[in-house]
Amino acid sequence: MPQSILIIEDEEALARFVELELTHEGYLVEKAFDGRDGLQKALEGSHDLILLDIMLPSLNGLEVLRRLRREKKTPVILLTARDAVMDKVTGLDMGADDYITKPFAIEELLARIRVSLRKHEKAPESDLKRLSEIVLDPLRHTVTVRGNDVSLTSREFQLLEYMMENEGIVLSRETLLSNVWGYDYMGETNVVDVYIRYLRQKIDEAYDLKTLHTVRGVGYVMKSE
Ligand code: CA
Repeated sequence: MPQSILIIEDEEALARFVELELTHEGYLVEKAFDGRDGLQKALEGSHDLILLDIMLPSLNGLEVLRRLRREKKTPVILLTARDAVMDKVTGLDMGADDYITKPFAIEELLARIRVSLRKHEKAPESDLKRLSEIVLDPLRHTVTVRGNDVSLTSREFQLLEYMMENEGIVLSRETLLSNVWGYDYMGETNVVDVYIRYLRQKIDEAYDLKTLHTVRGVGYVMKSE
């Protein structure tokens, strides 16, 4: 889905030039040449970002921003005149994301647009894994038990994640070694036992759980109680 940008700018030649560049970059572009029309388009549309000139006919840019912010959080980059320091400060106070001073190099504008868009991208929903009272967040690399942070080394985390993904399945030391340590791991196979012991201490023993079970002669399985 291409991202869409609304340009509110009364200098039509400038608006058209920016539109051309943005379209070339793959954005969908809509334009408004005065404040009132711009505000209406901003409120009615679902733009990913708005470029907003400050000196505009009918409703100035700061007023557009103020009214927009009552209803929407669409990121706004202000287009300001060289010496309008107060406008910049006021604009940022009123919830603009950034500003760029005219005349600007199009490359700089494009870079700022990318930064603003990235900042506002929705954080991907983390795919939490749960087992008993353990919650593992693969994206944030965190583990909690009953809401308490459990501090794990990166290898402990990988082992726990793999075992939680395979809940209820008995995993041999060889399977754990090749999936957690990698096929080319050349060390001792008892490294698995050592790390299982670490996890037991940090999780089962610390929180009085029974999730890491030994299956004699076979390996390990993780399940609730
Ligand atoms: Ca203007």
